[in-house]
Amino acid sequence: MNTNKPRIVVLGAGYAGMMTTKRLTQKLNPEEAEIVLVNKHNYHYQTTWLHEVAAGTINTNQARVMISDVINPDRVRLVYDSVVKVKKDEKRVELENGELEYDYLVVALGFETNTFGIKGMKENAFFIQDVDSCRHINEHIEYQFAKYNNEENAEDHSLNILVGGGGFTGIEFVGELAEKVPKLCRKYDIDPAKARIINVEAAPSIMPGFDEDLVDYARKSLQERGVEFREGAKISECKEDAFVINDEEEIKAGTIVWTGGVTGNSVLGESGFELTKGKVTVEDTLQAPGNENIFVLGDCAWVMNKEDGKPYPPNAQGAIQHATTCANNIKALLHGESLEPFVFDNKGVVASLGKSDAMGTVFSDKKLYGKTAASMKKVVDNRYILMLGGPKLFLKKGKIRPF
Ligand SMILES: Cc1cc2nc3c(=O)[nH]c(=O)nc-3n(C[C@H](O)[C@H](O)[C@H](O)COP(=O)(O)OP(=O)(O)OC[C@H]3O[C@@H](n4cnc5c(N)ncnc54)[C@H](O)[C@@H]3O)c2cc1C
Repeated sequence: MNTNKPRIVVLGAGYAGMMTTKRLTQKLNPEEAEIVLVNKHNYHYQTTWLHEVAAGTINTNQARVMISDVINPDRVRLVYDSVVKVKKDEKRVELENGELEYDYLVVALGFETNTFGIKGMKENAFFIQDVDSCRHINEHIEYQFAKYNNEENAEDHSLNILVGGGGFTGIEFVGELAEKVPKLCRKYDIDPAKARIINVEAAPSIMPGFDEDLVDYARKSLQERGVEFREGAKISECKEDAFVINDEEEIKAGTIVWTGGVTGNSVLGESGFELTKGKVTVEDTLQAPGNENIFVLGDCAWVMNKEDGKPYPPNAQGAIQHATTCANNIKALLHGESLEPFVFDNKGVVASLGKSDAMGTVFSDKKLYGKTAASMKKVVDNRYILMLGGPKLFLKKGKIRPF
């Protein structure tokens, strides 16, 4: 490759990084810039499907896509390595196995789980973090069921699954577990009454901030399928086999998963970016303050809504939209033109409650429930796959099967 061209380095091949790379290849001629995409693995995964990988309700491979299948390696240099830190003063990125210089940098390294310092959580709970952590959760759950009838004094609580956090991820995860656990009981000849799925949330209600009707619907639907909720229950400690609730009560389980909080990737802090709750509050152009040539996107960024002074919710649709603004603005910088502000186009949000149930809002807060919402969720998932890899990828990885 011609090294005299300005080099754009994109860190992270999640929603924001993949789509930024894709848009850059569409907006720039190969002579205008060299594009480098750095990612830990040689695959991209659908973060929004990780709860399904963790519950084992989809095959791991459906949730991931080889990066070179959707990004042309002749056009973009693909570097499979872990980012250690950004050396802003030197315009270099330190990787585990080398260094890279950049002229323009896009930081799209996603989230990390935040345990808020809850005693024992880091040591004893599983996290829904990436493909590897979710595969591990799935295998661990299956192992608990597989060994139950083979142990002389097997304790019933080893079949329990405790999920800390009743936010979006926690609720989507228990929805998948409500499908999976009965199947595991049948597979391993276990009385379903013995296996409990318990969701624990510190706030007075699950899904804080969500519309009350939708939350009521989700709670009722999941309870009917056997999910237990402990709302207003503060986890004071996570032991190897239990949550301690409100400093007094213990709930025991063989599997404990924490979904209660996330923060921006720790590379941001290592690199000396100014952080608010673990993320960079970016300019409306998505640039890091004081760093014209660095863009921070997706779950690494707080993008402020000027109308209410609050950040837009960090989610996949936002990350995908950041990519377009970022690619336009890098092109503008290369051409000496003025940059555009990010404008969020809120298409709504739908939470799945298993394969054939969901709830959420679309366009102008129209509420959806049940199969209609579940169909909408599939439309959203498939739309992204089509954007990323066209009909070929859709046929391979799309959610095509009916309920
Ligand atoms: C279970 C779950 C369900 C969700 N459901 C929804 C939903 O229904 N709708 C919605 O809009 N949002 C949803 N979200 C939120 C959404 O997934 C995130 O907001 C979105 O993934 C953010 O995109 P991103 O590009 O910033 O990060 P990610 O998509 O997480 O990508 C980050 C990438 O960076 C890579 N990476 C990380 N660290 C390094 C490193 N040090 N070096 C190299 N590479 C690295 C990772 O491997 C990954 O490929 C959900 C999240 C979860 C966990």
